[in-house]
Amino acid sequence: MKLNIHTISEQLQADFSGNTTAEIETVSIDSRSLQNGVSTLFFALVGPNNDAHSYINELIVNGVRNFVVAHIPENCVGKATFLVVQNTTVALQHLAQYYRSLFVFPVIGITGSNGKTIVKEWLNFLLSPEFTIIRSPKSYNSQVGVPLSILSINEQHNLGIFEAGISTVAEMVHLERIMKPTIGILTNIGSAHDEGFATIGEKIKEKLVLFKEAQIIIYHKNKTIDTFLNPNIKTFSWSCKDPNADVFIVKKTVLDKTLLTLKKGTTTFDLKIPFQDDASIENAIQCLMVLLHFGYDQDTIEHRMELLYPVEMRLKVKNGIHNSSLIDDSYSSDFQSLKIALDFLESQKQYPKKTVILSDIFQSGLSNEELYSKVSQLITSNKINRVIGIGATISEFKNKFINCSTFPDTDAFLAQIDHLHFGNETILIKGARTFQFEQIVATLAEKTHETVLEINLNAISHNFNFFKSKLKPTTKMMVMVKAFGYGNGGFEIAKLLEHHKADYLGVAFADEGMALKNAGIKLPIMVLNPETTSFLAIIQNQLEPEIYSLKGLHAFLKIAKQKNLKQFPIHIKLDTGMHRLGFEENTLTDLIAVLKGNTTVFIKSILSHMATSDAPEHQEFAAEQIQLFEKLSTKLMMELSIKPIRHILNTSGISNFPSAQYDMVRLGIGLYGVSNDYEEQKNLENVSTLKSIISQIRTISAGESVGYGRRFIATKPTKIATIPIGYADGISRHWGNGVGYVMIKNKKAAIVGSVCMDMLMVDCSEIECSEGDSVIIFGTTPTVSEIAKKLDTISYEILTSVSQRVKRVFYRE
Ligand SMILES: *Cc1c(COP(=O)(O)O)cnc(C)c1O
Repeated sequence: MKLNIHTISEQLQADFSGNTTAEIETVSIDSRSLQNGVSTLFFALVGPNNDAHSYINELIVNGVRNFVVAHIPENCVGKATFLVVQNTTVALQHLAQYYRSLFVFPVIGITGSNGKTIVKEWLNFLLSPEFTIIRSPKSYNSQVGVPLSILSINEQHNLGIFEAGISTVAEMVHLERIMKPTIGILTNIGSAHDEGFATIGEKIKEKLVLFKEAQIIIYHKNKTIDTFLNPNIKTFSWSCKDPNADVFIVKKTVLDKTLLTLKKGTTTFDLKIPFQDDASIENAIQCLMVLLHFGYDQDTIEHRMELLYPVEMRLKVKNGIHNSSLIDDSYSSDFQSLKIALDFLESQKQYPKKTVILSDIFQSGLSNEELYSKVSQLITSNKINRVIGIGATISEFKNKFINCSTFPDTDAFLAQIDHLHFGNETILIKGARTFQFEQIVATLAEKTHETVLEINLNAISHNFNFFKSKLKPTTKMMVMVKAFGYGNGGFEIAKLLEHHKADYLGVAFADEGMALKNAGIKLPIMVLNPETTSFLAIIQNQLEPEIYSLKGLHAFLKIAKQKNLKQFPIHIKLDTGMHRLGFEENTLTDLIAVLKGNTTVFIKSILSHMATSDAPEHQEFAAEQIQLFEKLSTKLMMELSIKPIRHILNTSGISNFPSAQYDMVRLGIGLYGVSNDYEEQKNLENVSTLKSIISQIRTISAGESVGYGRRFIATKPTKIATIPIGYADGISRHWGNGVGYVMIKNKKAAIVGSVCMDMLMVDCSEIECSEGDSVIIFGTTPTVSEIAKKLDTISYEILTSVSQRVKRVFYRE
């Protein structure tokens, strides 16, 4: 885009403060993006838990000059140009609405409960030979995502494909004004997000608001939908049941594909799609309808539909060879998604050195000269250390990049891979599908077995914000990342928490804290259980010890004095009833005597830990603990004349004892998506999914047995699948022998026989599945809480038992 700041200011009816005539080329809402610069307009969005106004000072230091704000932060007056508006999110929407009005070309708007992103990606693939398409990147379909998508339209585009997602009534009207679709596609109306709508009818009605001024609506014919359609808008419907639909389709399974026979008026023809599941078939038919609407000929339709492919919507982080980490985005290459991937690279980089492996970029609408100049600028602003270009076109423009090697195709690159010395770096792998960059990912990925623990970074953000919303605005948040982030991975989570402006991290032992500091985490870190032998390392790494006994205090003071420390931060733990670690009431006088007038250390905080914050039956005990904490901490503060941070609540304490927030809380298990409370659990998102695959399938006859000790005997012919995960990976043996189950193709398969060290066997007689299919051990079903309950333990133990030999993969939707 290119808009003058004054034009924007006028459109937003903003109060203009500044003296510039800047041309704005991009808008941004992400303070972390290295792409922010002088021609960026930064919208300081305000969410329920996050206020981007707090990043403005930092952004000015980094060269951003233009801001849309609700108020000018005190220390920023006069330092940049500010457009002051009432509500920055609404302003972003207004700007997008204005910007959209500058373009006249067909826009396909997609909404529905399921399948939006897949239909969008497939249409992009099917139509890209003829059109220069702008589409929503990833699943940018929200009140913020849609405006951002629209604002990336440029003069070259001649077709838009955007998706719109809503979670409750009265939201769609905004998206309609911004997107103004000319062609509407209503995808499957499932039960997703039902909680925001009173009835299915209300949901359909709300979704159809998007097509208020569309010229045509494409949909799966259905009586309920028909009653809500505006009779003045043309429709183009399909059905496999209702012969009154405009296109009637008969489907039939043929080997691993589905044969569709379609009948439209007097024409009939066949085509194949490479899927068999209902959802994919439905999504493919929606795309087929668009091709028919655009008047594509039969041959082209047949040819292209057969090439549809599974869509990977996630950016994944994996461990790579020689201490590298990989960001796998090997399924798409276009300018918009490159921008997103580079931002993700910056926010997740585990090694400071950054490498990008990039294929030719397609359908930008720009000349190659212009396109690769823009790509080069992007690469430079993101401070990428080396670029590897793969493809004929990018090779031609090699000289636009610094430290760049190029290869004509993926095979040529793979032949040379050993000479390129990958290691100690973060590598973004981004290529168009045809380049088959999954081969590169497979070569550079650390070789481990098929079992992985997938960690959803969006869910962690969601859960963090959920608990933050329960706190007073002034209450600080320490997040416990001990035991490798409750088994989920320390660094990646710490990095995300840093972005969310958590105030503190907590670890159990010094080495956990050192690993985080060495990886570049800057947040202060409290060590819960510092051993005397680790005091020196604690000091050297600027970790902050919890001191819980006079013996420990004396030992720490001794080393601290030797090192001539002044005001070194420590945390005083009080025992108020947990009886694990901490100063008891009768040791307080001695503690005060030692600390009075002491300048070697500085009491940063006073804390205690509750034994029963999750147990309603022990509420009285919990209240007594809080009372005692109040009494002892007050005494320390009075006698020592100090004002430390006080904290006592863990996750269930936050929920059950909101009045005892003091100055900080310590969030643990809740961040990882687990609550002890049934109602609260519904508000959390699942973070970790333990996955494996089927190694082998066999069918045994009645009377035959499975596994050690013949503990399972089949009573009828039974299909048995072997999964390569066992008790050495953290699956309890108590979960075997019919107690537990895994999920295959969304169906339960009971574990039969005993869990072995590295494998377990399940009964999959009722499930259509094959070797290599994905298996879910825990995640949304079964949840870790469900497993914990059956095994008579707690979720904490299930999560932290997943062995370190299981590879962790982090992703963002
Ligand atoms: C682990 C721990 C927490 C977090 O507890 P959750 O129940 O996981 O929220 C808080 N404080 C201390 C001292 C801990 O050891």
